[in-house]
Amino acid sequence: MAAMTKEEPTAPPVATREGEARSAVAEARKAGRSIAFVPTMGALHAGHTSLIEAADKGGAFVVVSIYVNPTQFGPMEDFNEYPRTLDADREASARAGADLIFAPAHDEMYPPGDQTRVRPGPLSEPMCGAFRPDHFEGVCTVVAKLFNIVHPDVAYFGQKDAQQAVVLRRMVRDLCMPIQIEVCPLVREEDGLAMSSRNAKLTAAQRKQALCLYKALCTARDRLMAGEQTIGGIIAAMRDTIMESGPAEIDYLSIVDPETLEPARKPAGLVMVAGAIRIGETRLIDNMLVETIRD
Ligand code: AMP
Repeated sequence: MAAMTKEEPTAPPVATREGEARSAVAEARKAGRSIAFVPTMGALHAGHTSLIEAADKGGAFVVVSIYVNPTQFGPMEDFNEYPRTLDADREASARAGADLIFAPAHDEMYPPGDQTRVRPGPLSEPMCGAFRPDHFEGVCTVVAKLFNIVHPDVAYFGQKDAQQAVVLRRMVRDLCMPIQIEVCPLVREEDGLAMSSRNAKLTAAQRKQALCLYKALCTARDRLMAGEQTIGGIIAAMRDTIMESGPAEIDYLSIVDPETLEPARKPAGLVMVAGAIRIGETRLIDNMLVETIRD
């Protein structure tokens, strides 16, 4: 009997033009499939593939977009250095169950003369928004464009970018887009570091140091779960954990309501502990949902 070999799934086709993506989606709809969508900037890791796997579970036609969106990067940020690994991404998407990759050419997303933007409201202002002023406008604009091309029934996002998910949920409601937003759990490395395409830029020493953000979140979680209510004290302890790890810059450390993103002055019920730091040139974000004691 011939030995059984595990066959690699066929890599999904790559559409680079809006029309190609629209036709593939229309064909899937005609065949009775619903459409699930996973927008990404590529350099896929297990955090991304967990979204594709979740999308594939419902039997939908799964579209994965790969596009490094320039309008969500600030002028001093890492747009040019952002990793671009389309061949590997295609294989990873195939294994996770993608049916189509949409990797649009730049002029498909921003045609000549482009000038329209989707401007989010106050949910985009605290936390990351305070340090990346136009970031969420860029995110909303590109996601709205992608939604208009793919017309998904469901779109999958990661809790890793918790503020992004909150802002996009609001956008979908405010702009009457008939799209269900699913937010999937944050995927971590074995030692706890949140997976990120940017982790690849860390040196070995920085990679070790990067764990300080996760440790700071764990410190906060433990103190909150023990019933501590002094937010200032908890954030000071988080700050110490980060500063003791070596040279790092803290953008913010916050304990907020996970839906409104307003500071949790007296934690009761579900709160989100979140932070962003910079180690060398690399900006890292992470967060944790914590169930605190209700009054
Ligand atoms: P990005 O390519 O960084 O724009 O991310 C694309 C999607 O993958 C977003 O919805 C992210 O929140 C999600 N994502 C990125 N990293 C993770 C992770 N570690 N765990 C879960 N989802 C993630």
